[in-house]
Amino acid sequence: MVAASSQGIGRAAALRFAAEGAHLALCARKEDALQELADHVRQTFGVQVYSATLDVADDASVRHFVDDVHKQFGRIDVCVTNAGGPPAKLFLETTMDEWDQAYQRNLRSIVSFAQAVLPHMQRQRWGRLVTITSMTVKQPVPNLVLSNAIRAGVLGLVRSLAGQFGPDGITVNNVGPGYTATDRLKELATRYATTAGGSGNEYFAQITKDIPLGRLAQPEEVADAIVWLASERAAYITGQTILVDGGVYRGL
Ligand code: NAD
Repeated sequence: MVAASSQGIGRAAALRFAAEGAHLALCARKEDALQELADHVRQTFGVQVYSATLDVADDASVRHFVDDVHKQFGRIDVCVTNAGGPPAKLFLETTMDEWDQAYQRNLRSIVSFAQAVLPHMQRQRWGRLVTITSMTVKQPVPNLVLSNAIRAGVLGLVRSLAGQFGPDGITVNNVGPGYTATDRLKELATRYATTAGGSGNEYFAQITKDIPLGRLAQPEEVADAIVWLASERAAYITGQTILVDGGVYRGL
């Protein structure tokens, strides 16, 4: 199960799981893009795909989706949570509505998925929950205060769930992407162009300067970390955050 998977990192993760032979359950808000992906996956990899259009901030829709997926496949082995990132803003520019939305999309949606899938995983005595957040969980990015603050809560949740559900054979881990070549980054470049007066290209040059590997991540490179955490090869890893940031985070 890969949430918010019609484009970007979620889409790349769905494709990597399908390449491993996994049947897929996908959801996102954009029906056309989701359908196009589902058709492509069926034709290319020959796996089953169940998809639904929904907003992950809508708790009832998420629970309904998980129920339907379980009815369809009879089990849920892996759940990857995801959602679009909050708007790029400095603290005094943020509104209370934006704080509420960031909480609902980027923290509460994970609670919705986790509460719905974990009982199935407990019965199976096996499961993998992988959250997608951001490198902001380790190092704040100046104009991403909503992300910096809300995603820290995800880490608390991940570590709590890892402790509680480890005895059931379930691992819970988090992947924090760095600057990744998706539409989200184009959105941040546009914001830079309108607020700092620079061009999108200047934004990319500026962020790349701080990346030891000297380039953006491709979404597939983040997807590979997700698929690995979901695999048997990562069986003894739980409660952890893996940054896929090209070395941006310098802390020990
Ligand atoms: P993206 O904007 O390319 O894709 C986001 C996907 O989420 C799309 O499929 C969109 O339809 C879906 N989506 C958004 N809000 C949704 C909602 N409420 N309900 C259901 N689906 C929803 O973004 P991306 O680059 O793939 O980023 C994925 C996550 O990783 C985001 O939370 C983003 O903030 C985070 N992230 C991205 C970068 C980066 O540089 N791209 C860096 C750090 C963190």
